[in-house]
Amino acid sequence: MKALGIEGTAWNLSVAVVDEKDVIVMFSDPYIPKEGGIHPREASQHHSERIGELIKKIFSVVPIEEIDVIAFSQGPGLGPCLRVVATVSRFLALKFNKPLVGVNHCLAHVEVGRWKTTAKNPVTLYVSGGNSQVIARRGNRYRVFGETLDIGIGNALDKLARYMGLSHPGGPKIEALARKGKNYYELPYVVKGMDFSFSGLVTAAQRLYDSGVSKEDVAFSFQETAFAMLVEVTERALAYLDLNEVLLVGGVGANQRLQEMLRIMCEDRGAKFYAPPKELMGDNGAMIAYTGLLMYKHGYVTPLEDSYAKPDFRIESVEVLWD
Ligand code: AMP
Ligand code: MG
Repeated sequence: MKALGIEGTAWNLSVAVVDEKDVIVMFSDPYIPKEGGIHPREASQHHSERIGELIKKIFSVVPIEEIDVIAFSQGPGLGPCLRVVATVSRFLALKFNKPLVGVNHCLAHVEVGRWKTTAKNPVTLYVSGGNSQVIARRGNRYRVFGETLDIGIGNALDKLARYMGLSHPGGPKIEALARKGKNYYELPYVVKGMDFSFSGLVTAAQRLYDSGVSKEDVAFSFQETAFAMLVEVTERALAYLDLNEVLLVGGVGANQRLQEMLRIMCEDRGAKFYAPPKELMGDNGAMIAYTGLLMYKHGYVTPLEDSYAKPDFRIESVEVLWD
């Protein structure tokens, strides 16, 4: 069986075809803001201008006749972007008479991670631009055991980078600077129960930069503080749930320092650490195609009247019918 997947919840417009075993083809056309951060209307305009071309390219590799199901990222994400993706997906399903499956974007990050690693029942740390969550499966649902109370860690890194004059996306630039940092400056470490918060940390790091501390040291101090918060909550989830696997997904998961900190924590506890290949870490069409395929094979089809954009779509609301 083959599924077409369309992702476009925020910056990355990405279309892929997968079968049960592997990614057959994927084309992406990221929106890169001219200045500042992601502007929802500009991003959606980008998506609507480019999606036709991407779909044509995909169909030139895998003809529509070979595709069994059309999967699309239904949420969470930016409303205007989600509406472009939902509209195009509905159009394709109607025109070619194919079943449609609306996929939860967070669920897709987790499932593609499990697909491309050997993790079976992990505690997943999902760290991206808009989301930061600690997720684990209990019975037929994924549950969120901890999450950000304000902005996502990726968004926090991007904001700090922008403040220090670096262009979007800031995460990789902060990582490069942090590698050269030498001095650690204390910053607010905010873990409340199982949740964390980053906006106060961003403000404090900006103050630190204003006081004359180098970009390298600010980046280093920021990463050490923010990542320690994420690792603490992930470790606590492992302990509470008595699990022994950690899966790292989402764009920020590409960060080598975060990977190293998680790996050390896992070694200390006798747990295993997993991360999918980099191209499947951040937002991508293959994760939507794969999760859509999984859902379709377990009886899911999204009727047209339910295929609207869901900007606040929660992972817990999806019943998980597969192993
Ligand atoms: P996503 O929404 O999952 O595609 O993730 C996008 C976010 O990942 C953006 O906020 C990027 O700044 C961030 N990001 C990408 N690469 C890195 C990196 N190496 N270190 C930290 N953040 C990163
Ligand atoms: Mg994402």
